[in-house]
Amino acid sequence: MAVVIVGAGMAGVQTAVALRQQGHTGSLTLLGAEPHPPYDRPPLSKDVLLGRAEHSRFEIDFDELGIELALGRRAVSLDPDARTVKTDGGDLAYDRLVLATGAAPVALPGQPDSAFLLRTQDDALALRAALRPGTRVVVVGAGWIGAEAATVARQLGCEVTVVEAAASPLAGALPAEFGERTRAWYADAGVDLLTASAVSEITAHAVHLTDGRELAADVVVVGIGARPDNGWLAGSGIPLDDRGAVAADARLRAGRPDVFAVGDCASFPSARYGRRLTVHHWDNALQGARVVAANVLGGEVDYDPVPYFWSEQFGHMVQVAGVIDAGAEPLARGGTTVLWLREGRLQAVLTVDRPRDLTQGRKLIESGAALDPAKAADPDTQLRAA
Ligand code: FAD
Repeated sequence: MAVVIVGAGMAGVQTAVALRQQGHTGSLTLLGAEPHPPYDRPPLSKDVLLGRAEHSRFEIDFDELGIELALGRRAVSLDPDARTVKTDGGDLAYDRLVLATGAAPVALPGQPDSAFLLRTQDDALALRAALRPGTRVVVVGAGWIGAEAATVARQLGCEVTVVEAAASPLAGALPAEFGERTRAWYADAGVDLLTASAVSEITAHAVHLTDGRELAADVVVVGIGARPDNGWLAGSGIPLDDRGAVAADARLRAGRPDVFAVGDCASFPSARYGRRLTVHHWDNALQGARVVAANVLGGEVDYDPVPYFWSEQFGHMVQVAGVIDAGAEPLARGGTTVLWLREGRLQAVLTVDRPRDLTQGRKLIESGAALDPAKAADPDTQLRAA
């Protein structure tokens, strides 16, 4: 059986490795548009940007595993009836296909080429070369990427301003009261944070805001989100959801029994949360890959994870497990952990510099155990089931 995986990021690489671990002996091709050996993305906005690491390549011996890497080669269209992926380097036939093309960063309308995005290794190395002590950096977007880029730019001695259209940082991801609490982190790090401030134009040496303000900038970094990178599937009949993610089923099949989708490019129905989820985080690419590998090999494994991610910003480790849905009741556990409960059961946990709470909370979400709110609110007791 020939398996082709499109996309050589975390999800594609981990699917390939899991396929071999789970006994796949047929051919295995990993197609990646980027020319570089496959690498991990989280270090790009941390150690690689800071200059503490030159790269974040996966330490995997692809030859030894019999994984054929087809790098610098892009899939351009799919004919699922003929089981053929057309690429800019010729056609690839498959028996099973895995879609793992990740997400592409969103640019501002009219964004000039001189502005930096931060998605790829090339992006990170180019930005790093531009960050010198005293450089005036404007970061557009106070989401995860913007906060991490601002952290590093400041560590490198740049003068940093972050411009955020929403009223508080992390507005797209977390309830406003938590995002609001991170405002002090910006101030403590010496970063100017302008919220409720929209960018109208980026010019050669300035960022212009819609209220008429003009921010002098030597370097502009745009971190305003990413969208599933599925344009090449147009006309293939592979189902996409309303956000452009491949609408996979509970076993991560993509509308056909021989096509699967995993990682940032896909969404899946979560029985646990009662709705379709798109998760743009590292752990989803890892866990989903194992499920896809099992199902490619004929398994019948449902994918219904407790999503997890972390972010390292302004000297703090922020970790979240679960999904924070409107309707879940927040419960503060000391000053640095928030629990969200629904009918006495833990739905989500957010911690700042409290990894033990995160680990225990994640297990409690997975098990669906009930909590005693009074005990759970006490940060000096262990977080455990009632
Ligand atoms: P990707 O990593 O995007 O890989 C997809 C690959 O497919 C890309 O290499 C792309 O070039 C290739 N591709 C796309 N289209 C085609 C095509 N048509 N043909 C061939 N190849 C194609 N998550 C966390 O939980 N914590 C963090 O701290 C964190 N930090 C991050 C920092 C940065 C700078 C970034 C960008 C992301 C970070 N993430 C973090 C998110 C995490 O890295 C992603 O969720 C993860 O990389 C998703 O893996 P993926 O394989 O689905 O997609």
